[in-house]
Amino acid sequence: MIRDYQSNLEFKPLRDSEVVEDHQITVCVRKRPLNIKELNRKEVDVIAIPSKNQVIVHEPKNKVDLTKYLENQHFRFDYAFDETCNNETVYKFSARPLVKTVFDGGMATCFAYGQTGSGKTYTMGGDFHGEIQDFKIGIYAMAAKDFFQFLKSRNYSPLNLVVTASFFEIYGGKVFDLLSDKAKLRVLEDGMQKVQVVGLTEKVVTSVEEVLKLINDGTNARTSGQTSANSNSSRSHAFFQIVLRIPGLNQIHGKFSLIDLAGNERGVDTASSNRQTRMEGSEINRSLLALKECIRALGKKGSHLPFRSSILTQVLRDSFVGENSKTCMIAMISPGMSSCEHSLNTLRYADRVKELDASDPVASG
Ligand code: ADP
Repeated sequence: MIRDYQSNLEFKPLRDSEVVEDHQITVCVRKRPLNIKELNRKEVDVIAIPSKNQVIVHEPKNKVDLTKYLENQHFRFDYAFDETCNNETVYKFSARPLVKTVFDGGMATCFAYGQTGSGKTYTMGGDFHGEIQDFKIGIYAMAAKDFFQFLKSRNYSPLNLVVTASFFEIYGGKVFDLLSDKAKLRVLEDGMQKVQVVGLTEKVVTSVEEVLKLINDGTNARTSGQTSANSNSSRSHAFFQIVLRIPGLNQIHGKFSLIDLAGNERGVDTASSNRQTRMEGSEINRSLLALKECIRALGKKGSHLPFRSSILTQVLRDSFVGENSKTCMIAMISPGMSSCEHSLNTLRYADRVKELDASDPVASG
């Protein structure tokens, strides 16, 4: 499955004109292009991104006399990427600034949020060429590449930091190890509220090639046994974690959690489906709500952290506490008119997350 990953994507420092603002919570939006199906249906693109941080949705509405009109809904985020932006650009402004946070001893989280089919896996895991996924241009691999470059180019060697990687998924409120035959794992919390995924495979990695192999193995485990029409992977949260460890002390220096979240479909989308699908849907909604509440607590220092509300937030507990925790959300939107309601839901969720960033004077003022 892996394609020619030994080449290109050199580490290039950001240019001055591309300085990325340093917020505790960064919220980005990415719009994908209309796909073949949507083009064949002659779907109208209802989303405009007139500047790097603005999104306008032309929402179809009916007047009382049933004549149709479009109402513009305006949003503003840290970054808005239109359909011409590639993964590298999205990475540069979203996840990449967090690599430094991890080297500085922090906990960083970057998650892709949106309806199924909006581009979460494309962005986090990598582009598809026919049946083949090119992991090299996914955010998981680009972040790993920067980890190795940082180790080389910066002065972290006195700490002798070791890089490890894990890959697991949360499906139906349970954790499965994607690097160990999908073994079911327990989540334990100790008396100090420290949460541990017991027995999670954590592999020491020393090169991007090794990381790409793990991404390939984990992705195959995630999707095996599924048909595209009934894809469990769209109903699971996938976690790719890169950890910096201080050898000998069995101590974590910093951690980067990169998450491809389950699709945020609404209740009505699964209302006609079977009981299991409906239960999975409500579990997903509960976990996405809990995620928002935990980010709210991160934005308002000292407030109660409801991390026990879901396994997703329990596993992320470390990322919501501590002085040096940073989060980046990439909200994915599909441009077609038929997805308009979903896209508005995603943008409203992202908007509420943005409101919570106390370090952003515009959002908090
Ligand atoms: P999700 O993970 O949100 O369910 P996917 O990442 O699987 O969605 O994307 C759905 C489809 O759209 C895939 O065929 C993918 O290749 C395509 N796609 C998503 N984002 C883009 C993009 N920015 N440019 C081109 N194609 C995209």
